Amino acid sequence: MVQRIVEAARIESLDPSAIPRLRMPERATIFAARAARLVQLADASNPIAGYLRLMAALADAQQRVLAGFNAPMPSRASIELNQRHSMPIVPALTDARDPAWRDVLFMLLDGIEAAGALTPALTQLVGRLRATDAAALDSQADAVLALRFAEIDPAAAPFIAAALQVVWTDLASRIDTKDVPYLDTPGVCPVCGSVPVASIVRVGGAYDGYRYAQCGLCATELHVVRAKCTNCDSTKGIAYHVMGTGDEPESEKSARAKSAPLKAESCDECGTYRKIGYQDKAYDFEPYADDLASLTLDLLMGEAGYRRAAPHPWLWPEHSEDDR
Ligand SMILES: [Zn+2]
Ligand SMILES: [Zn+2]
Repeated sequence: MVQRIVEAARIESLDPSAIPRLRMPERATIFAARAARLVQLADASNPIAGYLRLMAALADAQQRVLAGFNAPMPSRASIELNQRHSMPIVPALTDARDPAWRDVLFMLLDGIEAAGALTPALTQLVGRLRATDAAALDSQADAVLALRFAEIDPAAAPFIAAALQVVWTDLASRIDTKDVPYLDTPGVCPVCGSVPVASIVRVGGAYDGYRYAQCGLCATELHVVRAKCTNCDSTKGIAYHVMGTGDEPESEKSARAKSAPLKAESCDECGTYRKIGYQDKAYDFEPYADDLASLTLDLLMGEAGYRRAAPHPWLWPEHSEDDR
């Protein structure tokens, strides 16, 4: 009997259709796990430790708000229409955004305030956001979701993004994976149409050994094969980069590369990179948190001439005047 079960499992692993295509967010733990990981990564050696602790308070607030939040689910007809057109099932770019996202924003601001996480500059920012009218908040949300950098206020955008994440993560956590269509566009979340932040090679259960790219908005994870660009689908010109001292001997470099729990995967075809984490080397690796906390690797990748495939929703580049 045991023999037969083992054999069936082995055969299944040879069948690509057996790979779980999606891993939906766990609504009971998704943001709490991020918060815990951010605290873990905010050690003395991290140059942005203070920011990571603030964002941990924000993720904790997201978890509490999500627990009591239920956005209206799309109708059967709208699900089927989007399936027929290979469109994301609950598109982020929509004219019908749930206005409750603004209430979520204010609850998150209350949450970080109650956590005592605010510096004077942040107190000012929170006051400014509370005083912003609905139409202006909605246009900030549109700019963040459409990545229209010239219109984004980089200081406010993490909080706008956090509120939108609660709404879409709520939807994603209640969607039946069988309803999620296949899209024609590579590198885009089939649930909400947003771009992923980073990827993770998971351990355990049905996901063991497979790589998933985590959506920066709804936290859905989409299976992506390894050694393939998550931005343009190219399998040519892929390389991996790890943090190093730069002057160590080659043998130490390759040992470091083998054991690194986090790497940047670059693509020479499109000139971008995304980070990839290995859960067998860091079990608590959380793509969103680990991506944010490894800003030093971003700086090195920038020096090496690569661009991020997508910005981190909690760390927006200051745009220069020429972008306007
Ligand atoms: Zn998504
Ligand atoms: Zn590429």
